[in-house]
Amino acid sequence: MRAGPSQEDIRRHNLGALLRHVHLGGPISRAELTSKMGLNRSTIMALTSDLTAAGLVREELPRETGRAGRPSLVVRPESARVYVFAFDVGPDRLAAARVGLGGVILDRRESVRERGPFKLDELTGTLAGFARQMRRKTRPDTVCVGAAAAVSGGVRKGDGVVRFGPNLKAEEVPFGEELGRRLGLGLPVSVGNDANLAALAEHSRGIGAAVRDLIYLHGDVGIGGGIIAGGHLLGGHDGYGGEVGHMVVNPGGRACGCGSNGCLEAEVGERALLESAGRTRQRQPAEQEPPGQPREPEPPGQRGRDAVRAVVEGADRGDIMAQDALTRIGDWLGLGVANLVNIFNPEMVIFGGTLREIYLGSAAQVRTQLALHAMAPQRERLRLRTSALGDAATLVGAAELAFAHVLSDPLEVLARVTG
Ligand SMILES: [Zn+2]
Repeated sequence: MRAGPSQEDIRRHNLGALLRHVHLGGPISRAELTSKMGLNRSTIMALTSDLTAAGLVREELPRETGRAGRPSLVVRPESARVYVFAFDVGPDRLAAARVGLGGVILDRRESVRERGPFKLDELTGTLAGFARQMRRKTRPDTVCVGAAAAVSGGVRKGDGVVRFGPNLKAEEVPFGEELGRRLGLGLPVSVGNDANLAALAEHSRGIGAAVRDLIYLHGDVGIGGGIIAGGHLLGGHDGYGGEVGHMVVNPGGRACGCGSNGCLEAEVGERALLESAGRTRQRQPAEQEPPGQPREPEPPGQRGRDAVRAVVEGADRGDIMAQDALTRIGDWLGLGVANLVNIFNPEMVIFGGTLREIYLGSAAQVRTQLALHAMAPQRERLRLRTSALGDAATLVGAAELAFAHVLSDPLEVLARVTG
C-alpha cells in the first residue's frame, strides 16, 4: 500500500499554491484566496502567516471597501525584497534584469552583442557584471532567490548546456555552469530556450494568460517557438521540441542555418526579409557556404531588429520593394501557421519579437494562407494576437523559470538562501 501525502507535503503544496496566486495575480484578499484555493479561513490564515514570517508576502488592510464589517486583509508579494536575476542572450543583444516577486522588473541592463563566435568568458563576464551593478543598488534586506537565462538555442535539460544555437554560433557550451560560477551567488543558473520562455511568459502574465492551448512564434535573426498544450509547454522527449522555425515549408528553398533548406526560419527570418526588400546585399550562390573563410562584414545598421522594423515602416510609407517583401514573407508565415494550426488546434497564435511588426504588416497574407490551408474546425475560433510583453518577453520568461523552485517550495528556498 502506498502512503498518502504527509501533512508536511500538503503544507508545502499549499504554501506554493498560495504564493503562486500572489505572484501571478498580484494583491489578493484572504477571502478571495479562501474561495480560489478551496481551503478554509483558518488554513489560509496559517499559510499567509508562514509566508509573511518568511518575508515572501505581507498583509495589509485594504483601501476603503465601502462595506460594513471587518475587511479581509490583502496579501501582497514582497516585490522589493525578494527577487531573481533574469538574463537574455540573443544574437544581437545581452540583457539582464532584477525581477521582484510578482514579476516586477526592478532594474535592467542591456548591451549590444556583436554577431560572431560565441565567446563564453566575455559574455558571462558582461552578464555577471550587470548583476553586480544591479546588486550594489539594492537595500541590505533584499534577497536573491534564483537566476535563470533565456538563450537563442537548444538547451539540454538539467545542466544548462547550450547544445546548438546556429544564430549565436554556439555548440555544446556549458553556459549555465559558467554563468553561475561568475555570478558567485551560490545559486544554480537555470537555462531555457528563449522562445519557449517567452511563450511561458505570455501564457502566465501576457496576452495568453488563461489560454491553455497557444503557440507563440518569436522572430529575431531566426524564428523560434513555444507550444503550450493543455497548459503545459511541449518540450518533447529531450526538451528540444517546439523548433517551429525549422519546419520545412519550401523544400528546395533558401538555405537555413541548421543545414536544411526551406525552413520557416529561412523563408521568414531576418535575412530573407532584408534581402527581399533590397536592404542588404544578396549573396551569390557560391557564397552560401564560405569554406572556413570569414565573410565580408555587412555595414552596420543593415540588420537586426531595427532594420527589420524599418522595412515594415517602409512598406507603410509606400516603399514598393518593402511591400513586396512583406507579401512574400507573409505568405510563408501564413503557410507555417496553417500547418501548426492543423496539428495543434491552438486557441491563440501569438506573434512576438520582430514577428510582431512583420505580422502586423502582413496580416492579410497570413489570413489568406490560413483560409487556404488550415482546416475549418481548427480555424474557426482561432485568435491571432501580438505579444503583450514585447521585447521583455524573454526576460520575463527567464524570471519565471528562476522563480519556479521558490513557488514549488517557498520555505525551503528562503531558509537556504538566507541561512
Ligand atoms: Zn532550419
